[in-house]
Amino acid sequence: MKIVVLVKHVPEPTAVWKFAPDMTIDRGAIDGHLSELDEYAVESAVRLVEGGLDAEITYLTVGPAQAKDGLLKALAMGGDKAVHVQDDAIHGSDALATSLVLAKALEKTGFDLVVTGMSSTDGEMSVMPSMLAERLGVNQATFADAIAVSGNTVTIAREGDGATLDVAATLPAVVSVTDRTGEARYPAFRQIMMAKKKPLEVLSLSDIGVSAGDVGAGAAAVKVRSIDAAPERQAGAVVTDDGTGAAQLADFLAARGLI
Ligand SMILES: Cc1cc2nc3c(=O)[nH]c(=O)nc-3n(C[C@H](O)[C@H](O)[C@H](O)COP(=O)(O)OP(=O)(O)OC[C@H]3O[C@@H](n4cnc5c(N)ncnc54)[C@H](O)[C@@H]3O)c2cc1C
Repeated sequence: MKIVVLVKHVPEPTAVWKFAPDMTIDRGAIDGHLSELDEYAVESAVRLVEGGLDAEITYLTVGPAQAKDGLLKALAMGGDKAVHVQDDAIHGSDALATSLVLAKALEKTGFDLVVTGMSSTDGEMSVMPSMLAERLGVNQATFADAIAVSGNTVTIAREGDGATLDVAATLPAVVSVTDRTGEARYPAFRQIMMAKKKPLEVLSLSDIGVSAGDVGAGAAAVKVRSIDAAPERQAGAVVTDDGTGAAQLADFLAARGLI
């Protein structure tokens, strides 16, 4: 069985994000790391194999050169090989174009089960799993808190407000997993070194049959017109308790319609 885990390299949230003149994030100029939520996707796939599933795990990322670091982190956690779609023309792509690139790459690698995070930690749209299932014409089961594979069926537990749904889908399928699937492991130094020896294939858009005109800012349905820095946080009001502290707090909340 072929499992492909999608892993996104995201900018460090604490870094000073730089924007290029065309209003896109200058990803190449910012340090990044494997999206934390994708670590759960990696962990889920590795646990399936450790649990006895006969499967090969491939990691797939779409991103600039630095995205390789995310693949290496995933390979250190387990799995077999990695594919990196890297092409300057992808810069400025929106979610639709990103899903096109990922879908075409998945058609090239082949897959029975695609495992993704429930959301990236930068874009946070949670749209990629559904877009991919639609483009690939396969089943989807999203927001899995637990995942199991038996024969050609993947089963997930999906926590709802009032009940837990047990959802079964016939493979091939796309499954997104939540941060409740189990703590992601920390790779040991030896595994980090071994990851560098695992196969890592770099593909361009032409390798996967995508035209440069179908991706990038020019093809994006989303246009960013301007970017403004968030306003500075104002200093909060300090209540000194001179015996009237509780009343001052109540007045403060009442003035804002909070009580
Ligand atoms: C090089 C590059 C430049 C981009 N430039 C822009 C831009 O200028 N403007 C813009 O609007 N958007 C841009 N995008 C697209 C955007 O950043 C997101 O990748 C895309 O819209 C997916 O949305 P999301 O991050 O909210 O993913 P979600 O739908 O929240 O992600 C769900 C899951 O899908 C998988 N996934 C998502 N993205 C990737 C990926 N790239 N590689 C592998 N797995 C992935 C992960 O498993 C993730 O947990 C760019 C993307 C790339 C790779």
